[in-house]
Amino acid sequence: MSALPQVISEYRDAGALFAVNHSAGKDSQAMLIQLRRMGVPDSQIVIVHADLGEVEWPGNLEHIRQTIGNVPFIVARAKKTFLEMVEHRQMFPSPGQRQCTSDLKRGPIQRELRRYLKKHPEFGGRIVNCMGMRAQESAARAKRPSIIKNRSCSIAGRDWIDWLPIHEMTHFDVFATIFSAGQRPHWAYYAGMSRLSCVFCIMASASDLKVAANLNRELYRRYVATEKRIGHTLSMSGKGLEQITGVPA
Ligand code: SF4
Repeated sequence: MSALPQVISEYRDAGALFAVNHSAGKDSQAMLIQLRRMGVPDSQIVIVHADLGEVEWPGNLEHIRQTIGNVPFIVARAKKTFLEMVEHRQMFPSPGQRQCTSDLKRGPIQRELRRYLKKHPEFGGRIVNCMGMRAQESAARAKRPSIIKNRSCSIAGRDWIDWLPIHEMTHFDVFATIFSAGQRPHWAYYAGMSRLSCVFCIMASASDLKVAANLNRELYRRYVATEKRIGHTLSMSGKGLEQITGVPA
């Protein structure tokens, strides 16, 4: 069994809630397996997923339910959809200004976790918010501290820390962890996707956008139509989806 970092084991022993941010992707899936292997009991785990509805991969919720076992599962939803946000702003979010992440994922997840913690006083107001970011993914992620006190979410009576339990795991480790637990990753990986995020992510590679376009024609048409209507592209490169993928809408 891998060891928990000292500070995290103190939170576990104090009965803190471990909130597993689950996207349905491979990293979230491996993170939950790893948490259990590190000795976090199911009685202290809750799974939370930000559901982006129509812009997510089909089967996300089912995949999460099938792989988490018998622990509570919260689905957090924003008041607006991704495409409504784009229409309202007349532009897509950019990697530097990811309103999609802050407004559609992080905000709703934090709101639901605050509610859950309030409803469950047995956790003593302590929460370890677990996210599946890995150093190997990007230079920015490599620089992130793996454990940090979240000051904006901590108030009197609520002690919140953010933890990246699989920060050091490689791409290979992630898949090995999933298969060693007798599980399979989401079906979209088998269809050729390298990452599982929104079907059409602002940060996706050309290859992923092409696979996604071929597998989700109706949604693709809506993204292409949106690009043309607002005169702004999903990709920071300024190239439209049809130009990037070579797939006519
Ligand atoms: S997956 Fe990509 S497009 Fe979707 S919310 Fe995250 S950064 Fe934005």
